[in-house]
Amino acid sequence: MRILVTGGAGFIGSHYVRTMLSGGYPGYEDAAVTVLDSLTYAGNLANLDPVAASPRLRFVRGDIADPALVRSLVPGHDAVINFAAETHVDRSISGAAPFVATNVAGVQVLLQACLDAGVGPVVQVSTDEVYGSVASGSWTEQAPLAPNSPYSAAKAGGDLMAGAYARTHGLDVRITRCCNNYGPYQYPEKVIPLFVTNLLDGQPVPLYGDGGNVRGWIHVDDHCRGVQLVLERGEPGKTYHINGNAELTNLELTAALLECCGAGWDMVTRVPDRKGHDRRYCLDDSALRDMGYAPRVPFRQGLEETVRWYADHRSWWEPLKRPAAAPAPGPAPAVTGSMP
Ligand code: NAD
Repeated sequence: MRILVTGGAGFIGSHYVRTMLSGGYPGYEDAAVTVLDSLTYAGNLANLDPVAASPRLRFVRGDIADPALVRSLVPGHDAVINFAAETHVDRSISGAAPFVATNVAGVQVLLQACLDAGVGPVVQVSTDEVYGSVASGSWTEQAPLAPNSPYSAAKAGGDLMAGAYARTHGLDVRITRCCNNYGPYQYPEKVIPLFVTNLLDGQPVPLYGDGGNVRGWIHVDDHCRGVQLVLERGEPGKTYHINGNAELTNLELTAALLECCGAGWDMVTRVPDRKGHDRRYCLDDSALRDMGYAPRVPFRQGLEETVRWYADHRSWWEPLKRPAAAPAPGPAPAVTGSMP
């Protein structure tokens, strides 16, 4: 079994690869993994260090939107998991072009290469944000897409392309949509690692608007188990929601992080709300739960472990936060208020 994992040097993709190569997915202990990743500011080979010596890992630096490269790489694989994406909403507000290039055009290039090579299943990893904001209740997989940010619009574009390749060409594509992830190795522009690393440094944390925006939270390990379940038992052409076990306002999340870091509200700076900030997302994941899925990591326990990981891994995140210690990333907004 050979699996192509695109975006496998990022936060979630690398967790999937580390788990797969450490035998964390029963039945896949011998699977070989090719990681294709262009190593944007968010991609980091250090994320793969724990499995770098594995003879089952092959790393290829490249762009999923490069047709010649992708056409040459896809044949010989038995499945493709696409984690590659531009992922930060604030960056998409500053400049949407790379989001369209990767999250829409890149997905199309990948799908076409899979179709041409007869490779599938393809799992397109997506987000709850494609549905826009929901005041109450939760979305099923049948809810209409109504994205509001350039990030979520681009992800919706990729999802629509995936659905089109499934319906038009019969390509075996499955889409997963998940809520906000947290855990180790998350780039410290996203709210949890940003807040935690600021607090570890004795710096204030920026809270958007009134702090009333609501998000579902899931540990990255639970998300990856959901993706794996869809790979193993999902149906071609279907979409699956993957949800966690916590729904929190940003105020509640901030309170929990302050407590875990032993800090008080004097460390919180209110900043103007993000443009077009969706108020609430909420997924109904009963289809996946009917297949046996359930998140395993209790939120508070996962959060405390995550805080400990950042406290113990300064050498991983300090170069990412201190421009003097690392090459400057691409077009980046200031690392201020931030939700994934
Ligand atoms: P990330 O930003 O940490 O990692 C993205 C990875 O993709 C990086 O390694 C980057 O180098 C790579 N990449 C970007 N453009 C590429 C390209 N053109 N070709 C090849 N590689 C490229 O993102 P993440 O948080 O790990 O998210 C992974 C996926 O999960 C994304 O599709 C995202 O939309 C989805 N998702 C994320 C969350 C979350 O909370 N982080 C929630 C739901 C869904």
